[in-house]
Amino acid sequence: MEDKKGILKKYFGYDRFRPGQEKLIDGVLSGRDVLGIMPTGAGKSLCYQIPALMLDGITLVISPLISLMQDQVRSLIQAGVKAAFLNSTLTPRQYALALERAKEYRYQIIYVAPERLETPGFLEFVHSVRIPFVCVDEAHCVSQWGQDFRPSYLKIREFVESMEPRPVVGAFTATATAQVRRDVVALLGLRSPITEATGFDRENLRFEVLHPRDKAVELLRLVQEFGNESGIVYCATRKGVEDICALLQQEGISAARYHAGLEEDERRRNQDDFIFDRVRVMVATNAFGMGIDKPDVRYVVHFNMPKDIESYYQEAGRAGRDGEPARCVILYHGQDVRLCQFLIEHGGEGAGLDEETRDEVRKKDLERLRQMTFYCTTSRCLRQFLLQYFGEKAPSYCGACSNCLKAAPVDVTLQARRLLLCVQQSGERFGMRFIALLARGGEEALGDPRVRRGHLEELPAFGTLPDLPETCAIKILHRLIEMDCLVQTEGEYPVLQLGERAQRVLSGQEKVMARLFAKKNPSAASGRRAVSQKPERQADPVLFDQLKRLRAKIAAIQGVPAYIIFSDAVLSRMSAEKPKTRAELLAIPGIGAAKADRYGERFLEIINRKS
Ligand code: ADP
Ligand code: ZN
Repeated sequence: MEDKKGILKKYFGYDRFRPGQEKLIDGVLSGRDVLGIMPTGAGKSLCYQIPALMLDGITLVISPLISLMQDQVRSLIQAGVKAAFLNSTLTPRQYALALERAKEYRYQIIYVAPERLETPGFLEFVHSVRIPFVCVDEAHCVSQWGQDFRPSYLKIREFVESMEPRPVVGAFTATATAQVRRDVVALLGLRSPITEATGFDRENLRFEVLHPRDKAVELLRLVQEFGNESGIVYCATRKGVEDICALLQQEGISAARYHAGLEEDERRRNQDDFIFDRVRVMVATNAFGMGIDKPDVRYVVHFNMPKDIESYYQEAGRAGRDGEPARCVILYHGQDVRLCQFLIEHGGEGAGLDEETRDEVRKKDLERLRQMTFYCTTSRCLRQFLLQYFGEKAPSYCGACSNCLKAAPVDVTLQARRLLLCVQQSGERFGMRFIALLARGGEEALGDPRVRRGHLEELPAFGTLPDLPETCAIKILHRLIEMDCLVQTEGEYPVLQLGERAQRVLSGQEKVMARLFAKKNPSAASGRRAVSQKPERQADPVLFDQLKRLRAKIAAIQGVPAYIIFSDAVLSRMSAEKPKTRAELLAIPGIGAAKADRYGERFLEIINRKS
């Protein structure tokens, strides 16, 4: 049997696990229930797909949304995994056929809607095969306290317990307050689950609040800046959606609309157009988004301030699921607050509640609105604001939100001195990121083999800047280079050495001021940890475009969204690395063996024609 790392590489094309993944996978494989709470885009799916490929028998994945199911199954099949779904889109004949094949173990993973669990045909199937593992996706749907309560989720526990032997149960969700988490454990009947909760932070998202005089003008500017990339524009009302969509279209921008007042048909059509990249911008009310797994949404603009931070974080979080840089922008105006107040006072939400409860609900809503308004008017770091709202610790500077970007130059003499000491004490033989790592110290640094080999943790300057984000450390190092306090050598592995003026800073004769300013490009500002020390090659925009066109062609022929073939991230890496052989292609993260076999040659042909 292949091991989990081999499977990660072979099917999904990745070399290493993300934080939390391994713990949950190992948990399942050792027979324990697991609970994974990870933000969107963190990589929950692999946590159950990999055990599914290793366990003997069939893994059931209970998933609340048909569109998500189909997306996942399409992706798995592309990756060479035998997967299927059972839901209401199948005709009775297709359904029967799928069950028949399933009984012959021709699938390793089966996605199923919760409503199916109780049907006799399905139960009979379940009791006639080996099912070592049942996974519950979007597990918060079991809780009435969550936003997406699904009564059919309450039947899952009984279903699982009716199986003999009881399978391992895994539950996954992106949103879980303490209350919801307790519900998930209790109502799904998890047995002392191994739990992993990776924080809410989404490093690749850049948060911005703008206060434009004319929102429409600002929106047009933003949308045009993104050219052909996909984006979502949220408006507070249906009328807003109509107006903004018309405005964009008048300007020649490919846009579609989505709100609850449209016919089901049109909604579906517009949604598909967006997913299949036939339109670029989706203008929508908050009715749009649940079940949209499109990974390459590059921006989410809120034309109006949303009513609370919970909704905001969820809607904004639809940007950048692929981990590539993406922007989340609110176009704020004082009127938005009044509109929200009006909706709270007069909205239909309290219907059916008694007077007292309704007042209570209204009070809570208004308090949440107040927090949302603070977010839009604060001069603090927006990322910190959001994370603290969700009860997490966060540094006061992310270097990548609109407030941090506006920040005036600050005195960083102390930090600069400690960074210089790191360079000096470690012998002037390391690169920028490594120096930042030394200064930050902590587990990541202690785990680094170069640190251990050189006993660098014993340096006096080691770990003297534990709270300084990596991006800021890098900014200060750049500033020190500018000031001739540091010199960066040439070559493939540039290292930092002390420069002429280093002594002046070390002795306190000279101050260091830096605008801890991120580059315009949010990727550089994202603070993402460098996984390898190798400097990354730059993407080649012309080639990237050609690869995208080939991807679109293949996707159209197969009738799947383009991102199912390869993500933007993969194409971008391809354009940078310019692989020449299948082996080089396989070295790119996100390309597994099945995809290399199916598409490798056609992509290599274009790459090698070019270079
Ligand atoms: P979630 O379900 O948590 O929102 P997904 O499972 O859809 O997230 O994963 C988000 C993206 O991250 C996908 O494109 C997936 O291929 C990628 N991904 C997952 N695990 C890894 C990994 N170990 N290395 C690199 N990319 C990964
Ligand atoms: Zn910030």
